[in-house]
Amino acid sequence: MTQASIDWHESAERFHPRQQAVIGGELVDAVDGATFSATSPRDGTVLAEVAACRTADVDRAVASARRAFDAGHWSRSAPAERRRSMLRFARLVEEHADELALTVSLEMGKPISDARDIEIPALVKTLTWYAEAADKLLDELPRTGADALAMITREPVGVVAAIVPWNFPLTMAGWKLGPALAVGNSVVLKPAEQSPLSALRLGELALEAGLPEGVLNVVPGLGHEAGQALGRHDDVDVVAFTGSGEVGRELLRYAADSNLKRVYLELGGKTPNIVFGDAPDLAEAAATAAWGITFNQGEMCTAASRLLVQRDVHDDFVSQVLDAITSRRLGDPLDTATQIGPVVDETQLRRVLDYVAIGLDEGADLRLGGGRTLPDTGGSYVEPTVFTGVRPDMRIAREEIFGPVLSVLPFDDLPDAIRIANDTVYGLAASVWTRDLTTAHTAARALRAGTVWVNCFEEGDLSVPFGGMKQSGTGRDKSLHAIDKYVDLKTTWIAL
Ligand code: NAD
Repeated sequence: MTQASIDWHESAERFHPRQQAVIGGELVDAVDGATFSATSPRDGTVLAEVAACRTADVDRAVASARRAFDAGHWSRSAPAERRRSMLRFARLVEEHADELALTVSLEMGKPISDARDIEIPALVKTLTWYAEAADKLLDELPRTGADALAMITREPVGVVAAIVPWNFPLTMAGWKLGPALAVGNSVVLKPAEQSPLSALRLGELALEAGLPEGVLNVVPGLGHEAGQALGRHDDVDVVAFTGSGEVGRELLRYAADSNLKRVYLELGGKTPNIVFGDAPDLAEAAATAAWGITFNQGEMCTAASRLLVQRDVHDDFVSQVLDAITSRRLGDPLDTATQIGPVVDETQLRRVLDYVAIGLDEGADLRLGGGRTLPDTGGSYVEPTVFTGVRPDMRIAREEIFGPVLSVLPFDDLPDAIRIANDTVYGLAASVWTRDLTTAHTAARALRAGTVWVNCFEEGDLSVPFGGMKQSGTGRDKSLHAIDKYVDLKTTWIAL
């Protein structure tokens, strides 16, 4: 069925999400029967009462993951067998794309078109890519003297805890699951409390695909309960986390206080989007700047939240950006024409509005938006917002807002742009628009960011790593490099 022919509102009426945790191959309630409400930011309605996993449930999940790992049906299976299972898993996700897209859209407010055309395909591609990689990885034989044979082998670490956020609930889960599963680990997935439903369905589909019980467990629950229990668990070998810096710091503390598990962090950003007057196509750059701060409601770690514009084209460029943002359609995420949905919940909405107040206090010029909108829906909708006259020392230029709030800063020349762009604790991504080869290369080298885009934004594919420098993180997702997080290197030295 094509997307246009689906009545998403009618599908939402019939929506009956899973509510139980997936542990040891079974769907189970929390040990103490506790639940929490999954609420839709679309209209404030409660979608489900979901098992609230706590320490006892996490203990069960980790024990089942460990049993599965030790049993070896997955961890020691032939890589080609894991490839086949993961391809089946990817196919099942694809077959359930509409249902999963609806789930994501309802639970966290992503426009249905983006959920269906971007979020679910990203998960399918990720699972497929790592499935295909599973039986193509090689180990190493270093050259030794004739009296020895040395082997460097990669062994799965064991039990991986994947703790993920709500903004791309399935893509982020896939970036952890793909490489972790491909090399034979067992995983306990902890979705964000705002988006547990899609993850629960994913756990169920993994079982249907034939992943052995215990290989993928899903424990919905609150961060300081289920998340903390995983972070402190003595039998978790690796924590792979995407989320805020604040929680990232907690996870490092938990690891220090427990078994020194390895912790990989994918954290926030304050992406500088740098537009030089000689950009090849200023209209395209303006449309991209508008997209970059409103796509996914600006709830994106790479959101193009700092727009640096060369002074000689500043005013004209800003007016193009304002037009482009205004032309993006905000509304019910279940309408296929909607391009901007609600932010994830009331807490996030308040956070965004607080930053608007901060920007006004700091003396920035509010050029667009700044308020709550569509209040009659009961949902958490916020107007796309643009500040100009922003100085690098203002909080709206320094802190991650995680909403559709754009801060525009003028600059004079290349050194000025680099200085402003790098004046941040973050280093996730940056974008540069210029037709000058020297400017492009000099900027790409000088920018302290895990990814630099030139004359584009948010481009890439699974073959390239993604992650941050500085306080944006400590590991890389995607690409073969991600696999390093989920293996231990073993040296075997044989005297001949
Ligand atoms: P968050 O840090 O509040 O939550 C992320 C996850 O951590 C959730 O599952 C949550 O339940 C869990 N958690 C919360 N408290 C915990 C605790 N004490 N112990 C263990 N787990 C805990 O982040 P969020 O609000 O869900 O997501 C937004 C953040 O994620 C932003 O900062 C954004 O930049 C970042 N992010 C980064 C990337 C990236 O790849 N670098 C991608 C997407 C989002």
